[in-house]
Amino acid sequence: MTEPTPEPVLPHELFAGTFEDFSLPETILLGLKDLGYTKPTFVQQSVFAAVKSDRDLVVQSHTGSGKTTAFCLPLLSKLDPSLKQTQALVLTPTRELAKQVAMECSRLGHHHNIRVAAIYGGASFETQIASLQAGSHIVVGTPGRIKDLLLKKVFDISFIKSVVLDEADEMLSMGFWEDVTFLLQQLPKDKQTLFFSATVPPAIESAIGSLLKDPLAINLSSDHVSAKTIKHLVHLEDEEQPKSRNLLYALEFHQPKHAIIFCNTKDETDLLERYLRRFGFHARALNGDMSQSARERVMHDVKNGTLDMIIATDIAARGIDISGLTHVFNYELPENDEVYVHRTGRTGRIGSLGTAVSLARGKDMTQLANLRQKFEIDVQEQALPPVAELMRLQAERLATALTEEADGVEFSQYLPVAKSMLERPDMAEILAFLLRNFYVKNAENRVHLSRTEQQQTRPKPHSQAHPQARPPQPQPQPQPIKSAPKAKESTATPAPRIKVEPRKEKIEVTPAPLSAQNFESEFTRLYVTLGRQDGIADLTQLVHHLSLETGVDIGHFTGMGNVRDTSSHVEVDTEIAEKIIQVMNGRHKAVDPQKTTKDEASLIILCEVAKLTETRSRPRFRNQRES
Ligand code: AMP
Repeated sequence: MTEPTPEPVLPHELFAGTFEDFSLPETILLGLKDLGYTKPTFVQQSVFAAVKSDRDLVVQSHTGSGKTTAFCLPLLSKLDPSLKQTQALVLTPTRELAKQVAMECSRLGHHHNIRVAAIYGGASFETQIASLQAGSHIVVGTPGRIKDLLLKKVFDISFIKSVVLDEADEMLSMGFWEDVTFLLQQLPKDKQTLFFSATVPPAIESAIGSLLKDPLAINLSSDHVSAKTIKHLVHLEDEEQPKSRNLLYALEFHQPKHAIIFCNTKDETDLLERYLRRFGFHARALNGDMSQSARERVMHDVKNGTLDMIIATDIAARGIDISGLTHVFNYELPENDEVYVHRTGRTGRIGSLGTAVSLARGKDMTQLANLRQKFEIDVQEQALPPVAELMRLQAERLATALTEEADGVEFSQYLPVAKSMLERPDMAEILAFLLRNFYVKNAENRVHLSRTEQQQTRPKPHSQAHPQARPPQPQPQPQPIKSAPKAKESTATPAPRIKVEPRKEKIEVTPAPLSAQNFESEFTRLYVTLGRQDGIADLTQLVHHLSLETGVDIGHFTGMGNVRDTSSHVEVDTEIAEKIIQVMNGRHKAVDPQKTTKDEASLIILCEVAKLTETRSRPRFRNQRES
């Protein structure tokens, strides 16, 4: 089952006028031709004359409307190519956006003999200084590095006539305010200042008065483009299910070709990456913890089509241009309403249609009502089909993916045995085990990769082994298939529940300090004093028991661990380890204290990070917002 496609958009609703209206020199028209732009978009048409007339402007236009070219074209037409000095400065909040804008300016200005420099942190000063001194007409960069170069007196700003704040709402937020206002004050007094932003929150509106001279406001935020090309949907979550499972269901329903999933924290992006890869999605996280090269690699993989999904924080995704995104998912609604507009504006870009899907709980209803009212967005509530139908869709997706994977692989030697196995009553369990092994490996290969990338950019302590020479890992342990418990829903096989009393008489049991494990890791091995003597027969039962008790989806357990008589080890995604400890540690076991010979202390569950972790550590129990 797939959703109905939004109404097609007529080309004339996206574009207005022609480039001939702008009386551009032939050399700039050639640049437009190189980029394949035949008609200006609304924002390009709407701001050209005003920018050309040297007025200060506040342009409110959503991401993807063509705003880079909107400021670049008139600026290019004002520059003097024979004057080898910086005449225009564009400030952006991220390196990625700086590079992207510089690339667009450079391609547009190529035949006009315009040089463009991209200046951002994390890259060599020498190269950047050289490009400034070679006489770049346009400098595009992030405020911190530009300020550094100014203070080093290697950047001559005295010829600058225009400055652009791209993503101005972000540029004037707390994190950038000091550097940006410093730069604006240093620039020549008679400069033209242009703010381009998808939203103009009240805080920015009040700052505009002090930073701009008699600005003209051009508001294109609710233009036809955004209204007609993006379909906004919300799915009310099944609050009895973990959030990650709700997302999984939404993904199965929509079957997005190319999607970005927005999270509010970095930890969530990492966690979801592993979770979704275990269910066969080609997904990767994009967040500020990643090295520049790792982020570039993600973008590269998206562009060459090997990745279908990016799971990103707002900051990491700011301004990056990914064409052809069919879906934007809000795993959580952003705290700030304006961010919703930024996020969803990444789909439904020029000439294409997109769907914005939000997962929402009861508490989010007021925010959704605000969004509807404030931005006049028609957010429609849509129920997901029953779980059985979603599982059918999942089965279809995995079967298609595996068939593609099998293409060209010689497996005929296994066909007779496979056919004979089909007769077995426990074939579903066998298949589940094979799927688990296949996809867990898939998710873990990704971990090796990201580690290798991180190692390349971080100083390596002498004692540290080569990243790929990890200590041997315990192999995933196949569970006895015969004893596999019955499914609660078609994806999960809950084990018989052992009773654990609620935490009414919680006795303080202090778990091992989490900071003791200060390695790099995606997984955490937990020690828990539940074992065979408590009715936990095997790892499957333990995993299902912990999942039921803590509400953590079984997809977050890696399948590694072991069960002994009185205690067990179980490996989980690091980000949810703390939650399991919080719920389980200090609970009473479900044994009547009057009838047992055991002492009180042994009736209390101890759940902590395993002390002898041969593995994958550095638990990162921060849940901080990206800064
Ligand atoms: P932006 O809003 O600047 O991020 O641009 C969004 C996308 O629209 C980019 O991929 C641009 O290459 C593309 N674009 C910009 N102007 C035009 C145009 N006039 N015609 C077609 N595509 C355009």
